[in-house]
Amino acid sequence: MKSETKTCQNCKQKFVIEPDDFTFYKKIKVPAPTFCPECRRQRRLSWRNDIHLYHHTCGLCGKSIVSIFAPDSPMTIYCNKCWWSDKWDARDYGKDIDFSKPFFEQFRGLQNAVPALALINDNDIASVNCEYTQDVAFSKNCYMLFIAWKMENCLYSRYGAQGKDIMDTETVAGACQFVYDSIFINKCYHCRNIYWSTALVDCAFCYDCRGCSNCFMSFGLRHKQYCFKNKQYTKEEYEKIIADYRLHAWTGVQRAKQEFENMIQQYPRRFANLWHCVNCTGNDMLHCKNMKDSFNVWKGENCRYFENGDGPKDSYDISIGGEHNQCYESITPDHSYRNLFTIFSWKNSEITYCENCHSSKYLFGCSGIKKGEYCILNKQYTKKEYNIFRKKLITHMKDAGEWGEFFPGSLSHFGYNETVAQDYYPLRKRETIARGLRWRDKLQFTTGKETIRFQDVPDSIDEVQEKIINEIFSCEQCARNFKIVPQEYMFYKKMRIPIPRRCFYCRQAERIHFRTPSRLWHRTCQCAGEKSGNKVYQNTIKHFHGTNHCPNGFETSYAPKRKEIVYCEKCYQQEVV
Ligand SMILES: [Zn+2]
Ligand SMILES: [Zn+2]
Ligand SMILES: [Zn+2]
Ligand SMILES: [Zn+2]
Ligand SMILES: [Zn+2]
Repeated sequence: MKSETKTCQNCKQKFVIEPDDFTFYKKIKVPAPTFCPECRRQRRLSWRNDIHLYHHTCGLCGKSIVSIFAPDSPMTIYCNKCWWSDKWDARDYGKDIDFSKPFFEQFRGLQNAVPALALINDNDIASVNCEYTQDVAFSKNCYMLFIAWKMENCLYSRYGAQGKDIMDTETVAGACQFVYDSIFINKCYHCRNIYWSTALVDCAFCYDCRGCSNCFMSFGLRHKQYCFKNKQYTKEEYEKIIADYRLHAWTGVQRAKQEFENMIQQYPRRFANLWHCVNCTGNDMLHCKNMKDSFNVWKGENCRYFENGDGPKDSYDISIGGEHNQCYESITPDHSYRNLFTIFSWKNSEITYCENCHSSKYLFGCSGIKKGEYCILNKQYTKKEYNIFRKKLITHMKDAGEWGEFFPGSLSHFGYNETVAQDYYPLRKRETIARGLRWRDKLQFTTGKETIRFQDVPDSIDEVQEKIINEIFSCEQCARNFKIVPQEYMFYKKMRIPIPRRCFYCRQAERIHFRTPSRLWHRTCQCAGEKSGNKVYQNTIKHFHGTNHCPNGFETSYAPKRKEIVYCEKCYQQEVV
């Protein structure tokens, strides 16, 4: 098969389908996509509300609960315990297929009828005290934690495994403790503001450092101690420098942040963070093989357009997933085989167009089924009937242009601005509505209820007293009111971190902005011989290409117009490793 250039049905841009892609689509028996990869991702993400939590009431036991669904949602919401119990059966909501109506419309009707799970977490089952978390499992004492597992005492963080006592992080890849405001870290202890780093102890404001302790404001160090701005000092000198910065004070942190941001622009960046990867394109990958256009992933194999997760195999178009095989266009098809077009459905095989179905096989267009088989629109069929109706329904969907497409964003449970799509593909209200998507006017937060001004909060955390947990702050960026929870206060005191002046939502947006987008551009190495092309960075040794410009090209998530200096692996290794 040859590659084929298509025009995206949504954005009208051209995109290419490669021979390997066709082989995959053929294997799982779906037609080639009509949306480009970006539009497919945006459509999936418009079905994910990860961080906006609301108060709700369980429709079965009447308990007050936390939910990803706003109180005005048309759905009945069940708490964890009720939803997973056998006090109800999703098959009771089964419907006949109506071949006079589009499938997506019928499925939406079913979604509205079947009780929804308030939050995707296992609080009170395998997790303890994790009420305010979404997509979290096997964790303890966590608050505002999202897409993580095996975490303890973690707050205001996203994407993590096996972290303890951490706050304000993105992508903790394992065994970290006492870490604050950091991204993509592994095996770090007692650190703050560290980025793309491994095995650091007592470090602050470090970028791509490994195996270091007591380093501050440094870039690309390996196995160093007592370094400041990449320069070696004695223990006494180092301690004086770091004390002078007053990182326990708000003003001290602002100065350090500014200097750090300027400093890291002076160094070349590796074109992509691919650690122990073979034949991969993408970014932020660890121990992967044949993964293409994929981001933030561990131990993946043979996938394309995968983002966020570990152990995916042979799958395409997955937004967050783990240990799944031959899945396509799905949101968290964890531990499943051939989930096609599914949302939050785990441990299944051969299910298509389903949401919240678990430990099941052979389902089509189902919602909320547990341990089921041969159901369509939640109605039970025999194996023979199932196969006949499945085929007939697919033909019906083909006629309506639905077969092979993910659920349209216009049918999403959430307002576009509530979803992850808004973080990566921001739209204004008018634009959103013009595209037929929904907008949520009232995201649940208050403003104007503040009881204290930041100028009345002591600069240093050392002088802040416990009564601060009774105060209400107003985010200096978005004016949203927020409080400091007791667990958070204790963390600030122990780590000597000043009280933040921005709410969690603005702090997270800042971290997202610090990362490059999940998209690739073809570029050439910016090493011009002895210096970087923009003359900012002077190479420290002679490179393989001598005084000529480096000839290497690559796929990078640094867009061409960005100001970072981007080096190929070879040039980067000569400078940094
Ligand atoms: Zn498109
Ligand atoms: Zn309940
Ligand atoms: Zn804010
Ligand atoms: Zn190069
Ligand atoms: Zn070079």
